[in-house]
Amino acid sequence: MADGETAVAEAGRDFIRDIVHADLDAGRHSSAVTRFPPEPNGYLHIGHAKSICLNFGIAGEFGGRCHLRFDDTNPTREEQEFIDAIERDVRWLGFDWGKHLYYASDYFERLYEWAEHLIRTGHAYVDDQSQEAMRIARGTLTEPGKNSPFRDRPVEENLDLFRRMRAGEFPNGARVLRAKIDMSSGNINLRDPVLYRILHAHHPRTGTKWSIYPSYDYAHGQSDAIEGITHSICTLEFEDHRPLYEWFLEHLPVPSKPRQYEFARLNLTYTVLSKRVLTTLVRDGHVKAWDDPRMPTIAGLRRRGVPPSAIRDFVKRIGVAKANSVVDANVLDFSIREVLNKTAQRRMAVLRPLKVVIENYPEGQSEELEAVNHPDDPAAGTRKVPFGRELFIEQEDFMENPPKKFFRLSPGAEVRLRYAYFITCREAVKNATGEVVELRCTYDPATKGGNAPDGRKVKATIHWVSAAHAKTAEVRLYNPLFARPDPTAGENFTDDINPQSLEVLNSVKIEPALAADPSAEPVQFERLGYFAPDPDSTPAHPVFNRTVGLRDTYAKVAASEAKGR
Ligand code: ATP
Ligand code: MG
Repeated sequence: MADGETAVAEAGRDFIRDIVHADLDAGRHSSAVTRFPPEPNGYLHIGHAKSICLNFGIAGEFGGRCHLRFDDTNPTREEQEFIDAIERDVRWLGFDWGKHLYYASDYFERLYEWAEHLIRTGHAYVDDQSQEAMRIARGTLTEPGKNSPFRDRPVEENLDLFRRMRAGEFPNGARVLRAKIDMSSGNINLRDPVLYRILHAHHPRTGTKWSIYPSYDYAHGQSDAIEGITHSICTLEFEDHRPLYEWFLEHLPVPSKPRQYEFARLNLTYTVLSKRVLTTLVRDGHVKAWDDPRMPTIAGLRRRGVPPSAIRDFVKRIGVAKANSVVDANVLDFSIREVLNKTAQRRMAVLRPLKVVIENYPEGQSEELEAVNHPDDPAAGTRKVPFGRELFIEQEDFMENPPKKFFRLSPGAEVRLRYAYFITCREAVKNATGEVVELRCTYDPATKGGNAPDGRKVKATIHWVSAAHAKTAEVRLYNPLFARPDPTAGENFTDDINPQSLEVLNSVKIEPALAADPSAEPVQFERLGYFAPDPDSTPAHPVFNRTVGLRDTYAKVAASEAKGR
């Protein structure tokens, strides 16, 4: 098992992997069988990615398999669009379920038979109480519940009513099937939980075949048992459901007995990972779509230019624990930079252009200069960047009255243009309102390639593009979707939306080597950050998304703004 050992060591250890390891060592299982069980009522988000990496990761490391199982027990909220998106996103993250694609609805017939089994063994009954009456009789954390007046119905009457529920004889909500466990249990989940409710709804896969649908608790564990899941890994809020999970396995003739383990869900600063909130953001137009790059969805991150390996790196970095915590969103940005710094080719682009005229460069002339594609990877090669008399530089790289430590362009100052020449600013030309609209500069032809033969130094190197050759692009800059590190997921969550989450720049100048190919890899715009072409791009109108800046500037800006207030 040398290979397996290495994979485990590389993936790191956590309490769940320790449990799996111990189970295999003790011979309780020959391999680990896990599952990822999304409800197809929305797109997957970065929290789901944690669960996906854990479940598929363990299956891979311990020579087992991971099932993709759609928990499609609630036909009113589920759509094919979500099923397709979930499959696409899990694959994109780098995982493969092989032939093990399942739906909870595949098991509706078996689940129904098992419900009859519970009735026959005196472990389930049909309850006619109203929802409200049931809620009141359930009791509270401190008070026991009260038995339903229908709790002791004879088996035959229960069977008859349950069959008629299935046949569609009763309206929605008229009756439910409940497990008969213990209305005075300290664990509310054991106070006769609902197994089936009546719902006359069209199901995407079973159509109108069913008028009753199983509850999550009833369907989930039994689906695990049917599929031979060994380790059913879920988030902490299901810890209190575990006794119920085990009760079903004890009272049903299931073919296998999976065990449930809980880990802490992912929470991220400046981010809400509640499907209800994400659905509302899309539905009410706070973002453009599920794949809006501001969304914490896998589709949003992909569109933003985040590579799948960065998400996997992030999940590995944060680890798996049993205690809830909130992860700093900068950790995700860090992982993204780690990957893109290695893989992204360098290009030049000017976000907020200021025109520069090189007065001593002959009019009508141009030349091609050599630029490296990646400073740490010679194999990435070089490319030609055109240079001419008129250039664009970044507005913020010029100051008319610079403070002491500003070493970039100012009247009389000399800087290096990356891959090109030293230039000196001779004059700032202003418009009628006093704004600087153009710089008149000179260049030193002897500094071609960026070094002076006389050994003189400059303190700054700035990026630029040739005005005659540049293309114009749109660039979308993203800031956190929520303005607070701890946004509420409650009713008023819209109060915390960051009004500056998107900034669109429409006259960005990009070097001609930057193709408007929506499928192209993200690049580093030198000195600015990592940028990925957006699917909205056309050859005539390239659009780029800022994936992430070069360093964490947002937290600093937000902190200084908070101070100024
Ligand atoms: P809801 O059930 O409210 O619709 P959900 O986020 O739990 O939302 P599911 O589709 O049920 O959505 O989630 C699928 C799996 O992903 C579950 O096993 C769940 O535990 C896991 N999961 C969901 N959110 C997170 C998170 N933030 N961190 C880690 N795992 C998560
Ligand atoms: Mg859930």
